[in-house]
Amino acid sequence: MVSTEMPPRRMTGVRADPNTMRYLESKQQSAQLLRLALPWMVRQNAAYHPVSYTLWYEHVAGLNPTLSAALTARLDANDPLSEEDAYRLYARHISERDAAVLEILQRRLQTLLETTAQEVATACEDSGRFRQSLQQGRSDLTNDVNAGAVREVIGRLLSEALRMEAATQTLTEKLEASTRDVLSLTKQLNEAHTEALTDPLCGLSNRRGFMRAAQDLRDSDQGLDGAAVVLIDVDHFKWVNDTFGHLLGDKVLRAIAEVLRANIKGRDIAARIGGEEFALLLPQTPLQGAHSVADQIRLAVEQLRIHGDRATEAVGSVTISLGLALGRTGESIDELMARADVALYAAKRDGRNRVGVS
Ligand code: GH3
Ligand code: MG
Ligand code: MG
Repeated sequence: MVSTEMPPRRMTGVRADPNTMRYLESKQQSAQLLRLALPWMVRQNAAYHPVSYTLWYEHVAGLNPTLSAALTARLDANDPLSEEDAYRLYARHISERDAAVLEILQRRLQTLLETTAQEVATACEDSGRFRQSLQQGRSDLTNDVNAGAVREVIGRLLSEALRMEAATQTLTEKLEASTRDVLSLTKQLNEAHTEALTDPLCGLSNRRGFMRAAQDLRDSDQGLDGAAVVLIDVDHFKWVNDTFGHLLGDKVLRAIAEVLRANIKGRDIAARIGGEEFALLLPQTPLQGAHSVADQIRLAVEQLRIHGDRATEAVGSVTISLGLALGRTGESIDELMARADVALYAAKRDGRNRVGVS
């Protein structure tokens, strides 16, 4: 039987700001994109949450060619997206882009500084030539002091001075413009930097931010020796999502992030490193101390009671499993994380809602 169903369509001519990757669509255009994205979304297994919507929005808008290539390959293979696929594609094609924006801004700042340096160098050459003209004028006047020669020298110096004044004026204007550009680029760079290292859902560091902090600690004199890493994974989170929906699931993740924030101090780092996975980096923390932080967090999460907008929506007790490992001399961050992961796996295997130690 031939299907009479129209294939989903895409829209052309939609643009995003290449420097910030902010969406530039009008309300009308975005409404049209919503209408186009929905038919694609209904054909997948993933739920209608913001993560999967972003994927199909960017696809129908033609904003993200590498994402579209990945999605088209799945569509060609008649392979609908699962939840996990949606999160994986989002991490790969949307979150990673923040880092690319950062690179573009860094390159623009570099070019701007190089151009400014070049302009200043040209101005220095100009003023060098002016000094030579002045010296020449002085020696001309010393050698030959008749009135005609004086007039000629003064005329020459005057025109040189006027040229110099114009050049200085141009340079001043250029430097003012450069200063404004540098300030605005630095601001954008700072924002992109924060965005690239921060998880937008809960405001903690993301995986990249966590790995960077861990790498910095490893490269410091102190190293990872004596630092504790705690990996945290929400128990049966798929069930939470399936039962209460993704919005409430996200609320649970934000509440857990708050618990982590409240239980760390000083140079400790808390991060959301994956969908329902978090991590702590606790520099210079003995095993006993790290274990008690991990257990406090476990108990605090167990006591959370998350409610949705409607009175009937109330997630019962959510629990987490934790894996703790203490850094050893010379160990890499990947090795330390792998040991914490083994401890986490053991905590899951032994019944969940507990702290495993490796
Ligand atoms: P386990 O106790 O073994 O960890 O079971 P689990 O159900 O937590 O583990 P599983 O890895 O099977 O499922 C994780 C689920 O987390 C799948 C996905 O729906 C959900 N998830 C991942 N990222 C997010 C997110 O950002 N928001 C929401 N609401 N759910 C997410
Ligand atoms: Mg998990
Ligand atoms: Mg889990």
